[in-house]
Amino acid sequence: MLFSRFFAPTSKDAPSDAQIISHILMLRAGMISQMASGIYCWLPLAARVMEKISKIIDEEQSRIGSQKVYFTTIQSADLWIESGRYDAYGKEMLRIKDRKDAPFLYSPTNEEQATDLFRKYVKSYRGLPLCLYQIHWKFRDEIRPRFGVMRGREFLMKDAYSFDLDPAGATRTYQQMFRAYVRTFRRMGLTPVPVQASSGAIGGNMSHEFHVLADTGESTLYYDQKILSASDDDELMSTFAVSDEKYDAATAPLREDELMVSKGIEVGHIFYFGKKYSESMNAFVLDANGNKVYPEMGSYGIGVSRLVAAIIEASHDDRGIVWPEQVAPFDVTVLNLYPDDAKCREIAAWIHDSFSASGVEVLYDDRTISIGEKLADADLIGIPWQIIIGKKKIATGLVELKNRKTKEIEEMPPEKLLGRFRS
Ligand code: ATP
Ligand code: MG
Repeated sequence: MLFSRFFAPTSKDAPSDAQIISHILMLRAGMISQMASGIYCWLPLAARVMEKISKIIDEEQSRIGSQKVYFTTIQSADLWIESGRYDAYGKEMLRIKDRKDAPFLYSPTNEEQATDLFRKYVKSYRGLPLCLYQIHWKFRDEIRPRFGVMRGREFLMKDAYSFDLDPAGATRTYQQMFRAYVRTFRRMGLTPVPVQASSGAIGGNMSHEFHVLADTGESTLYYDQKILSASDDDELMSTFAVSDEKYDAATAPLREDELMVSKGIEVGHIFYFGKKYSESMNAFVLDANGNKVYPEMGSYGIGVSRLVAAIIEASHDDRGIVWPEQVAPFDVTVLNLYPDDAKCREIAAWIHDSFSASGVEVLYDDRTISIGEKLADADLIGIPWQIIIGKKKIATGLVELKNRKTKEIEEMPPEKLLGRFRS
């Protein structure tokens, strides 16, 4: 991709309406554009990151047998009236009427729809366990949309819904999902902190929130610091960590001065809520003896669009974003500092073409702008590797390969570069 053709309207100036670093950097890097309060267009850089995140989620969901579907963003109110949540959901729900004046809504979540789909087709215990997920847009008319896409009104969520025959099966599914979440967030370069959570409006028996530590987080977490270095999932699940909503000094297993207290960004939330929807919506199967059984359900969310911001909160420096390689919008950027020089142009184009042909995602900055601006934009956008092409170095047959994070520079002949990126 040539930067001169690429839609990334970067800017030097910090926007006046942004308070947290991820919001500032996403605006400055030309990743998002606000359309209304809490509603954003996602420009190419951001779309690419969101696709990388989604791909990791897809792979980890698939690994545990969770199957991808697309539920709908527009739902008829009927199912919500049936579950009893239509009134309970309150003003966060965007309510819509169609041309016949029938009540519809924009999905804030899809438990009802998943349960409806299940009851239509699964009639026997042989259809269990079943877990369906989607990655789709949600709308919640948040009372205070803020911090850019961190708390938006329209946002992209991965939401999974599981059905099991009995509590033992449901617990197994829950634990598998827990493990999948740990792997998912780690693959994005994050250190997830799973905290035991109250299950709030959805109601139920078991629940964890997954947080990323950041000073700008909206939650306060109290935890045993062992959780940050816990390597296996059982240790993660059993080490003490709760958010402010649930924290009670009297029942905590550690003294207050032994506990760590940090701010966290909630990037995922898993619930096991039993028969709440299966019973209220009469979704049942017949067991081996022909008895009616209401399946045990869980639901499992990941804030996909929030993650883009959370990753930036966790990984940036004073010059801009530092993308972890796994979610970076491009693998490498080529910075031709002398676009008017024929030799520099030739080498830069050759690198771009040979990398692209090998499936390495490369953004080639071919723009005629100052060297300072070019380097500043590259650091702002945060692609993990920069290939810097300058006149003097090229004369000696070398280019520079710079690591965005460590700032280390290695010099090498252009022919050697590709070997560093081909997997
Ligand atoms: P919060 O407490 O942050 O409002 P929630 O408990 O309402 O979150 P869930 O219903 O569990 O969230 O949704 C699953 C995930 O979707 C959350 O863990 C979060 O990462 C993300 N999410 C929820 N609300 C928003 C929002 N308004 N903007 C962006 N992401 C969101
Ligand atoms: Mg909420």
